[in-house]
Amino acid sequence: MPASIGIAFPPRLKRATDALRAALRVTLDLALPPLCPACREPVEGRGLCPACWSKLSFITRPYCERLGIPFVYDPGPGILSMEAIADPPAYRRARAAVRFDDISRALVHALKYGDRLDLAPMMGRWISHAGRELLAEADALVPVPLHWRRLWARRFNQSAMLAAAVSAQSGVPIAGGALKRVKPTAQQVGLSRSERAQNVQGAFRVPEEGKAAVAGRRLVLIDDVLTSGATVDGCARALLRAGAANVDVLIFARVADPVRTSI
Ligand SMILES: [Zn+2]
Repeated sequence: MPASIGIAFPPRLKRATDALRAALRVTLDLALPPLCPACREPVEGRGLCPACWSKLSFITRPYCERLGIPFVYDPGPGILSMEAIADPPAYRRARAAVRFDDISRALVHALKYGDRLDLAPMMGRWISHAGRELLAEADALVPVPLHWRRLWARRFNQSAMLAAAVSAQSGVPIAGGALKRVKPTAQQVGLSRSERAQNVQGAFRVPEEGKAAVAGRRLVLIDDVLTSGATVDGCARALLRAGAANVDVLIFARVADPVRTSI
């Protein structure tokens, strides 16, 4: 049975079969029309179908200048949200391309679990547009790292894929190896705000060989989804401890109301 043989393969052979499968998928892609990652309808070209595209919720001003949380009404220029004043994060500013909803969740999941790496350039363009002010002042991008065990299981880091797309779009280089996830944190799903902060406590570290890429530099963290902000806050703390000049955050999708919505 080929399927059971596949499971028994040693890692190197498994990698080879994965590569073969990827090559076959490219061949199949030429024959079959691509599917909309949200509704699975065939689409022309790549990305979302027109119906799902029209439902996508891009985040535009007015929003909190610090956290990037959209305001329901415009309170005037430079006004911060209650969250930013009551519980200021370690990072300086955060921006996100879209609200986290059914459509953006489908895009994130297709990239993360469905091997739709072809979506990264499109998502990267939207992130670059949302973060153009941050990118104009940035020295380097830092993707939120996965623990090596999860990276091994998933074969790629979706945040690194998005960072590569943002780098191609903006010309801001990636500070590779600047940050490591040294603690295999539990999934954040279902955890409360304080549990999330506890979960990422001490999870990130700038390794000795990454310090030169961090000290004195203006960095932009890149991640796919922001819920409570605990993960990027943990990353920002580690980068600031290693001497980063400042840390901004760029996200593909953010939960617009972090206290009432969960992934
Ligand atoms: Zn669709």
